[in-house]
Amino acid sequence: MRRTYRIADGAGSVKSQARRIDGPGGRKRAPLHSGSAGSIPSRMLWTDYFIPTTKEVPADAVVPSHRLMLRAGMIRQITAGAYAYLPLGYRVLQKVTAIVREEMNRAGAVELHMPALHPVELWQESGRVEAMGDTLIHLPDQPWRKGTVLGPTHEEIITEIARAYLHSYKQLPVTLYQIQTKFRDEERPKSGVLRTREFLMKDAYSFDIDEAGLDESYSRMYAAYCRIYERCGLPYRPVEAESGAMGGSSSTEFMAVSDAGEDIMARSEDGTYFANLERAEMAPLPDEGCDRQEAVEEIHTPGHSTIEQVSGLLGCRPQDMIKTIIYWADEKALVALVRGDHTVNEIKLAKAAGVASLEPATPEQILEVTGAEVGFAGPVGLKARIIADQAVTVMHNAVTGANQTDYHIKGVNPGRDFQITESADIRYAAEGDRAPNGSPFVFEKCLEVGHVFKLGTKYTVSMKAHVLDENGKSVPMIMGCYGIGVNRIMAGVIECCHDEAGICWPVSIAPFHVLIVALDTREEQVMGTARRLHDELEARGMEVLLDDRDARPGFKFKDADLIGIPVRITIGKRGLADGVVELKRRTDDEVARFSPDDVVERILAIVNE
Ligand code: ATP
Ligand code: MG
Repeated sequence: MRRTYRIADGAGSVKSQARRIDGPGGRKRAPLHSGSAGSIPSRMLWTDYFIPTTKEVPADAVVPSHRLMLRAGMIRQITAGAYAYLPLGYRVLQKVTAIVREEMNRAGAVELHMPALHPVELWQESGRVEAMGDTLIHLPDQPWRKGTVLGPTHEEIITEIARAYLHSYKQLPVTLYQIQTKFRDEERPKSGVLRTREFLMKDAYSFDIDEAGLDESYSRMYAAYCRIYERCGLPYRPVEAESGAMGGSSSTEFMAVSDAGEDIMARSEDGTYFANLERAEMAPLPDEGCDRQEAVEEIHTPGHSTIEQVSGLLGCRPQDMIKTIIYWADEKALVALVRGDHTVNEIKLAKAAGVASLEPATPEQILEVTGAEVGFAGPVGLKARIIADQAVTVMHNAVTGANQTDYHIKGVNPGRDFQITESADIRYAAEGDRAPNGSPFVFEKCLEVGHVFKLGTKYTVSMKAHVLDENGKSVPMIMGCYGIGVNRIMAGVIECCHDEAGICWPVSIAPFHVLIVALDTREEQVMGTARRLHDELEARGMEVLLDDRDARPGFKFKDADLIGIPVRITIGKRGLADGVVELKRRTDDEVARFSPDDVVERILAIVNE
């Protein structure tokens, strides 16, 4: 039952609140009512609430946020990649949502709500059905419904809305956003709510008449994102990002450094360059020169086809080898050369080659191009388009495949033995590389918590979302899109703010601000003080949970540390005999003693810090 009544807060104003006044009956718990009938205060009591803390977590819960959210009774997995948010978890999710919404509104974005069911035609119009691959969830056709997908993102839908209602430059700029559920059939949903098949995203889309307008809209969203992470207490770092399947010109990812993340950030030691490893550019490797160019020599390497096998057999280092990788693009072979210890970055390669997509060649195609089985390709005498990584251009006396099954050649020198007509940065940065400014790279695992893109006209051209410009000419609108993972922020904060014992919530998104742990719950003096402090704090705007369980202190303290409420007050018989209660911050080891009368002001100071 819910009832609305009015209470006076500490400042004398009156606020109306809906509060629960009764809990499930029949359980043993401390007396609930202290006042006379008619003015029954309601309290957030642990025994009335729903916090199924547990010690049991499945073995596949390895990242801290996953384990801690399960243990703290915040989430429950319903099926792979889909979670229920239990009350404590949902409170946090709502707090993150509220911060995101406030900052979006403050930045001038306008909220709307779009459906999760999308007609596949819109995705065909933008040409993204293939690009989304298996992540796009198609609903089976029915006699009454054909071609429906579950929205993994909403560029197509917002563009459909924009083209229906925006017709003139005078209506621009406009930024629309929603906070809504997304569906992506992630191949391996994992790490709790960090990567799920159903998740909450705030996605915003800006429409401008020109590039200058887009720059302005983008900066506004960028600044709003920074404020969101700051307010949520999540340490973050904007990094240069790859635009990937989204298209568009420039994009920034917001990363939280965390071992639970699946991305790698390349940052320069001097702290001036930050990029996603996918995107990171590097300083060219210097030419170390060599004393003597050896003669080319063919070596029999039967059954040795990988870099490791050949370097092992010949006693050379992987970086002394040229790796030759055959791709197929635009129905032709495209050959990439990288140093043996380097890895081709296919996004960079496709860009350098000017092709929309590329695929690794099949063994048959490799045989056709090189005349050899897989593992024996090399640039010498190869008739195909070859793009060499910059690092290959400064190699000397290298080992590479002989384009003959079971043979390699050594003493290969670019320029002498084969010509490099196209050279570019087509690889991932690696240990030992330097950022473009020459400062050495440091690589860190990180978690993508948000992403802003300058999309340009990718969708407005393909979906014909045009407006009339100042001269009456029909032009495609210029778009930006901006996404934030609400659940991922929540779990990301836990990744960054926890210890052995549990979560350490920042005040801003904590499920409650204050936890009152009443020991000796059968003592009326203890419960009386606990109730009084609860009510006083609540009247002063604090969110307070009162642990009224009749359980051992150690047990209650463990749960307190686990659920991580920022401020804990402990009220016990012994302390009260000395006229004190104990105050402890979740992140401090020390306990401070205050008289019950003084503790409220102290807590307010901490929470409002
Ligand atoms: P990822 O590279 O992690 O798969 P993405 O680049 O595909 O993410 P975007 O399309 O940029 O994600 O989505 C915007 C934000 O939504 C991401 O920055 C992330 O915070 C969140 N997000 C994306 N996928 C998931 C997911 N499967 N589960 C939870 N949050 C997600
Ligand atoms: Mg992204």
